[in-house]
Amino acid sequence: MDGAEPSGAGGEGAPLGEFTLIERFFARPTAERQGIGDDCALIDVGSQTLALTSDMLLEGVHFLPDANPQDLGHKALAVNLSDLAAAGARPRCFLLDLALPRADEAWLTAFSRGLFALAQAHGCALIGGDTTRAPSGATGVGLLTIAITAIGEIDRTRYCGRSGASPGDDLWITGSTGEAALALAVRRGQIEIAEPARAACLLRMDRPTPRLELGRMLSGTATASIDVSDGLLGDLGHILERSGVGAELYWPAIPRAAVFDTLPLAVQYQCVLAGGDDYELVFTAPASSRTAISRMAGDGVGVSRIGQIESAPGLRLRDGEHAAAPLIDIALQSFDHFAPPSPGPLGPASADRPSVAQSAQEGLFGAARSAKLDA
Ligand code: ADP
Ligand code: MG
Repeated sequence: MDGAEPSGAGGEGAPLGEFTLIERFFARPTAERQGIGDDCALIDVGSQTLALTSDMLLEGVHFLPDANPQDLGHKALAVNLSDLAAAGARPRCFLLDLALPRADEAWLTAFSRGLFALAQAHGCALIGGDTTRAPSGATGVGLLTIAITAIGEIDRTRYCGRSGASPGDDLWITGSTGEAALALAVRRGQIEIAEPARAACLLRMDRPTPRLELGRMLSGTATASIDVSDGLLGDLGHILERSGVGAELYWPAIPRAAVFDTLPLAVQYQCVLAGGDDYELVFTAPASSRTAISRMAGDGVGVSRIGQIESAPGLRLRDGEHAAAPLIDIALQSFDHFAPPSPGPLGPASADRPSVAQSAQEGLFGAARSAKLDA
């Protein structure tokens, strides 16, 4: 893409989605090792290659106003470390930007405790940032924003991004997806599940574990990799698009928590395939690496083979574990900040649940365009 000014904000025709918007207005050629498009940007500094990534958490978009501050501290860093994991990077340090509605000592104590516990666990130091007061909007209430930029180190000879998948490669995933989306549905009063599954799901939503150990193990073996933040189908779609390939995805092979067996299939599909907030790694690798990969376990989870890369474009979901199994015909929308809301299988949130501030984000909680609070 050249550096010319884009013409017109929305252009004619279809509304701009999140990724079209980034591609059209911000993606530009760069002399750096890796620019926009992968989970991390890569820059060479002397003999070293650094991986950089940045993610925000916004009140009302990514978390409810009554979110536990210690969990928020953990999650704000975890979602960034998850992008480092996708790049196979070793975390080195991070910057923290805060827009705070107020200087609340108890909140700051708990937030920094959660933040530093995870940072120390990965030897990742806070080295700077910015702190401002969040302005009060029309409602008179300032909204909390947390932004982190994380920096890691990679072995450039072993790096894979989103564009290296080839026809014939296996498709793999770490851990399991869907529980965080189910937790959000529970919090929104859309669904009830019994303990101990309820607590396990809430933990997945509030305190995600970045798959850093597995990410490093996989570098040099995986041909393409992404972390699942917006939903399995959507994030896998980024690998397919950037690699110029298609895939067969085998529904029975996709790992999911036992609690899903008690729920309608439509809810299972929505949470497991499009829910988001999972922070697992989806990756591809040649069949010759099967034995080595299937023995890998780290970060408290293992890996599962869930499909196959093909040259025919598109993503086909199959109700069996081979390419001739019947197709599952469902339309699911992974998370996109600018996609119009669409009705989902979970129905509306109950009115007595904590609502987000009266802001442009309100629709996110009103309709299940994704069960995700994003990250
Ligand atoms: P992730 O989910 O891994 O955090 P995103 O889906 O948010 O990645 O972003 C996709 C790509 O677009 C990434 O390479 C990211 O760095 C880049 N990107 C997102 N927003 C912007 C922006 N405002 N300016 C430049 N690059 C951006
Ligand atoms: Mg990512």
